[in-house]
Parts: sequence; structure tokens; C-alpha cells
Amino acid sequence: MDTRLSEEIKRLTALGLHRRCVEGDLARVAGLTLEINRLKKERNAVVCAHVYQTPDIILGIGDLVGDSYKLADDCRRTEADAIVFCGVHFMAETAKILNHSKKVYVPSSNAGCSLSEGITAADVRQLKAEHPGLPVVTYINTSAEVKAESDCIVTSANAEKILRRMYERHKAVIFVPDRFMGLNLARALGKIPGKDIFLWKSSCVVHERFQPELIDVYRKKYPGLVALAHAECPSELIKAVDFMGGTGDMMRYVESTNAAAYLLVTECGFGELAKLRFPEKNFIAMCRLCPYMKSITLESVLALLKDPAPREVLVPEAVAAKAKVAIDRMFELAAG
Ligand code: SF4
Repeated sequence: MDTRLSEEIKRLTALGLHRRCVEGDLARVAGLTLEINRLKKERNAVVCAHVYQTPDIILGIGDLVGDSYKLADDCRRTEADAIVFCGVHFMAETAKILNHSKKVYVPSSNAGCSLSEGITAADVRQLKAEHPGLPVVTYINTSAEVKAESDCIVTSANAEKILRRMYERHKAVIFVPDRFMGLNLARALGKIPGKDIFLWKSSCVVHERFQPELIDVYRKKYPGLVALAHAECPSELIKAVDFMGGTGDMMRYVESTNAAAYLLVTECGFGELAKLRFPEKNFIAMCRLCPYMKSITLESVLALLKDPAPREVLVPEAVAAKAKVAIDRMFELAAG
């Protein structure tokens, strides 16, 4: 076997990837990661990997790894000429807005998002006309055009904190597009939907389907279990769990506690990563796959690096400039 390939297999094994590959498949994965990492250097490209990606992407080729907030923040500091976004399209658009002079690419044409596709800029303008004077607080899972119509962007990592800050100055807000996240935040903040917070109707096709009654079933089966759920889940489920947050908050929670078992109610990639990071902890599976996130593979990243032009993400300058104001406001309020 080629020395470089056997070195790459050793590197991936040290990262624990052999435990996530079926027999004999590690050599195929190593061949791909070796070539991708070579092309990355040649093109001075950086790979951003969202935590919903599979471990071969996150550990094998990811340079910047995290949730939407961390990736957006990290992207602002990269010195690479190109950003390859292993996440969904709105995340790559956010990277482009924050780095307008750089080339940004997404490896799959199917990397959409039901939340992002559930609202348009015209919908936001309509909401503003119905509720004049109210600020529009927008979840990051939206298109560049929707962000450009917004006053402040939030992620699941900072939405509660930023909304608290907004309520210091405004009696009510418009929150889009995730209806469940809006209801969960309203409950956490003691606000009344339809009076203090006006919501849109979109939802995440992955998180909306978790069934709240299963939490109790798992608790009975695994005494001492701690249930953590993403803020995009329906409110009835959130009421049944011990912790609600974004994936970054959930990972920190797991790291800093020592429960008998953890039930991670979110996309499956997150649980896979948690198992690799904390092999000594006990995780119970209750997850769903996001078809958009999973449309990205090592093969698609390699194809992109060989021929990037068809996968470039473009945002018109005027839209990017307006959207950046709302994203910068998030960084300012999240830090303050
Ligand atoms: S998990 Fe839901 S919110 Fe996240 S990318 Fe998939 S569809 Fe969109």
C-alpha cells in the first residue's frame, strides 16, 4: 500500500474514524480525505463543517467545525482565499455575506433547508407592514434576501439572550421563520405569542417530527437519563426534556455533566460526533437525518475542489451589505 495512504489511515484511526466505518471502508475514506486535503492546500481553501455532517467530513477534512454561530464567527477570521461550506446553502450564503471578496462554495445543489425555503423577503415586508415599527429578529436559517429585510439575526446559541436585549427597547418583536423556536423562546421569556411576539409559520422537517411521548418511554427504560433537545423541536417536546439549546450548548452541557445516559434529540450527525468526542459517556439514540445536510459527501467535496465554478455561492453586493448589518448586530448583541 502507498505510504501516504497508510499514514492517512493511521491519522483517521487515531481520530476514532475506524469505529464509524464498516470493515474495509477506511481505506476508501482515507483515499478521499488525502486527495481533498492536498487540493485544499493547493487552492488555499478552508473547509467549514457543520456538526450535522458525518464524522468522515468533520474529522477527516474539516478545518472549522461547529454550529451556525461558531462557523459564521470563525469564517470572519479566515485568511484562506476560498471557503468550502460543508453545511447547507444559507450557511454558505452567510459566509459569503461576511467575506464578500472571497470565493465561497457549497458541494451539493440539494443542500437546502425547509426553514430557509419557508419564507421570502416579500413575506417579511408583509409582516413589517402588518406590525409597523416592530423590529424583525430573524433566525440565521434564512436566505440572504430575508436577512437583508431584518434588523437582527440570531442563532439557536444566542436567540434567548438577544431577544432579552431587544425587549429592553421594544414592547414586541417579529420573530421569523421558525414557529416552534419562536414559541419555545416566548415560553422561556414569559412572552405571549400574538401580543409580545409575532411569528411566521415555517418549521424544520427534521425536528418537527420528534414525538414528546417517547421522552417518558426512554426515561423509564434508562433511569438517570438526561434529555437534551434542539430549540427547533415542538413546544410539547421541549416541555418534556431537561435542556433546550443549540448544538453548541448541548455539546457543552454533555462535556460539563456526568449523567447516567444522554438522549440527544436532534440531527443524527450531532450524536455521532458526541460519541466520538466522549467515548466514555453513554448516548441513547433518538435522532433523525437531515436530507439536505446529508446530500454532502466526501465525493462531492472532491468533485467541487476539482471543478469549483458550478458550485460557487453568489450574493448580490447590495443584498449582502444590508444582510451584513443585521448579522453584525447579532455579533454585537451576542458579545455584549
Ligand atoms: S436540520 Fe432542519 S433546520 Fe437544519 S438544515 Fe436540516 S431542515 Fe434546515
